[in-house]
Amino acid sequence: MTDQFSLKQTIYQELVEWDKKYFLHPTTVPKTHVEQGPKLIFSEGNGIYVTDIRGESYIDGISMLWNVNLGHGQKELAEAAKEQMSKLAFSSSFVSYSNEPAIRLAEKLVSLSPGDLNAVFYTSGGSESNDTAFKLARFYWQLKGKPEKTKIIALERSYHGVTIAAQTATNVPAFHEFSGSQISGVFHAKPHLTHCELGERSDPNYEGCIRYIVEKEGADTIAAVILEPVQGSGGVYIPPEGYLQAVCKLCDEYNILFIADEVICGFGRTGTMFGVEHWGVVPDLMTFAKGVTSGYAQLGGVLIKQSIRDTLVEYDDVLAHGFTYSGHSTACAVGLKNIEILEREQIVQNVKNMEQELKKGLKYLEDKHTIVAKSRVIGLLAGFELFADRDSETPFDPTVKAAVKVVEECFNRKLILRALRANEGHNIIAISPPLTINKDEIETMIQIIDDSIAACKQDLM
Ligand code: PMP
Repeated sequence: MTDQFSLKQTIYQELVEWDKKYFLHPTTVPKTHVEQGPKLIFSEGNGIYVTDIRGESYIDGISMLWNVNLGHGQKELAEAAKEQMSKLAFSSSFVSYSNEPAIRLAEKLVSLSPGDLNAVFYTSGGSESNDTAFKLARFYWQLKGKPEKTKIIALERSYHGVTIAAQTATNVPAFHEFSGSQISGVFHAKPHLTHCELGERSDPNYEGCIRYIVEKEGADTIAAVILEPVQGSGGVYIPPEGYLQAVCKLCDEYNILFIADEVICGFGRTGTMFGVEHWGVVPDLMTFAKGVTSGYAQLGGVLIKQSIRDTLVEYDDVLAHGFTYSGHSTACAVGLKNIEILEREQIVQNVKNMEQELKKGLKYLEDKHTIVAKSRVIGLLAGFELFADRDSETPFDPTVKAAVKVVEECFNRKLILRALRANEGHNIIAISPPLTINKDEIETMIQIIDDSIAACKQDLM
């Protein structure tokens, strides 16, 4: 027994040392990491729970990176990958080669997506998808005889990824400071106000900030506007009714393509299959990743409107864009199975039901703790904020790092959540659990948050 235990300890220590030494972690503070080592070394998961190599289980309150939509330990997805990979390791999608899962998934995605989004270009993730959307938009305008339409308008607070074009559209200062490298011609418009900020006012006319840039730069220089239907990493901001419709109308008016980044919102997260469905708009290009496979395989893509697809397929030379893993057969087989389960288990309906429970839970936290405010929930995508004085919206002293502290307390109580934009002085906490979550599990999460706030309230003041 003791020998077994010490062997496990030795293996664990070795992994920690190797991790510190050899594994440069993304979006991590390197100095802290090499001093303290990995926070957890995940080894397995089941439903909303993940277990670390030392055997401790945690509730995954954020679906890891907003992506494990069907939860952990979904054996059917593992089986689908195994079956496909056993048959065919890999096949190219270049120069007209194809494979069955990629074809079937394309047909399925088209049937699920709104309006006449009728073709798909595959990538391996969200950043690649957004870069692809920008390139497709520019190429489309070239084919239309308008090569000067190249500029992209994104929103402040947006997150679109880290490849250089996607990162330029991302509006998180740390990501820009990291390399300094940006593509030219990308602009950021002030975003819409949110439900919370609008209060009783109903005027959603904040697409005017986009209009201002369009008119200043000239519509004939703008290729596309990109936005997340619900802004995720930027703070979970739900647009007011009418905003997306107004942006869509503006794009039509000025002949600009409208790109919806559904990387977080897609595949049920907000209580509809895609986020845009809440507002009844159909983008020209719609990017997706994460939830398409619930994170079980690396896959993303761009859904393309019929008219754009028709223009692209008229091109009689090589479409000079593509990734080795565009249309990876295993990833696509997992995507197909993931959608099959989403539909069979009526997961979107569960999201709608659980949205009510999460709303109740956040209301309870607001009623109980005077530092909690501005909670927002759409489907199972939620956030709330902490204020020193919520009535006057007085923020906490940034050095207090209030949200980070509460998230740490939750972690100590075995719930993983995430503080958003903490290094910009915000105190927003995101909740985004697997879509398979049930009422009891939501109540457990809320109880842990309740206890964690109570435990560290004194420290925050
Ligand atoms: N778009 C959005 C809205 C995202 O949230 C993310 C990732 N969090 C991305 C794009 C980038 O995706 P990836 O990390 O797969 O490149």
